[in-house]
Parts: sequence; C-alpha cells; structure tokens
Amino acid sequence: MSIDPANERKEAAMAAPDTSMRTAPVDSSAAENSAASPYASVVARRQSHRSLLFVAGLLVIAIAAWGCMQIAFAANADDRIAVITDSEGATQRIPLSENGSYPVETALGTNVVAIENGEVHMDSADCPGHDCINQGAIGSAGEIIVCLPHKLIVSIEGGTDEGASAIDTVAS
Ligand SMILES: [Zn+2]
Repeated sequence: MSIDPANERKEAAMAAPDTSMRTAPVDSSAAENSAASPYASVVARRQSHRSLLFVAGLLVIAIAAWGCMQIAFAANADDRIAVITDSEGATQRIPLSENGSYPVETALGTNVVAIENGEVHMDSADCPGHDCINQGAIGSAGEIIVCLPHKLIVSIEGGTDEGASAIDTVAS
C-alpha cells in the first residue's frame, strides 16, 4: 500500500516536465517566490517567535537569579546593626547601610559615631586620649569600640554568619 503513492508521484514527476519545462524559463522564479515566500515568512516568524521566547526565558531566569543574589546580599548588608550604648543606658540601633553621623551626648561627654560604607567608627569625641577614635572602624558582628571615659560602647550585631547561611539556602 505504501508503494502506490510513490509510484503515483513518480508518474506525476514523469508527466510534469512537459508543462513545467515550458513555463520554467518565463515565470518560474516569480511563481516560486510568490509560492514560497508566504510559507517561508511563516516559518521565519515561528522561528523568530521561538527565539524571542527563548531569549525572554533566559532573561527571566537571569533576572530571577540576579534578584536572588541581590536579596541575599541585601539581607547580608541589612543584617548588620550598630548598637550604641551610652553611660545612661540609652541604646541606639542603626543599620550599617545607613551612612551618617550619630552624636551621643551624656553627662560624661560627647561622642560622634559615624557609619560609612558599611563600617562604624568614632568620628569625634571629647574624651581624653581619644582611644575610641584610635580604635578605627569596625564592621563585623562581635566587634566593639569602647570609649572608657564616657562609658560608651559601640558593637555590631548580625552580619556574616546569617548572611552566609542565607546565601547557602539560595544556592541549595
Ligand atoms: Zn573616647
């Protein structure tokens, strides 16, 4: 049964040349163009549509991955908080993402704590010796700056451990 159509095609092919050969030199190119181009354009549209979908899919995946990384790093950065405790027991909790100067005035004196680029340092103080200023900048959980004369402590909470676990959960 499968041979018959093939034979019919061969017969058609054998019969066809008489007519096609006559018309071929005159208008075969125009006929082929007019016949082929609609189909070709449909195929081209489908292919471009598919490639567009493919590129769009890649973009979505890339943006999603980038977003996850941003959230992980943002969580890491926002985790860290500077905790300023003064001699009167008052406590300020300031995210390390918030750059700025934070003056602390007590009966013992004045300190200005500065947060800059995710780190904390004592910007100025009217204590003798300026040991707190000389301690430099801190940025990791557990690090502290102490101004003994003013009984002022700046410590860091949160940070790398929680941030690392957040990245691990994203990766796994
Ligand atoms: Zn000091």
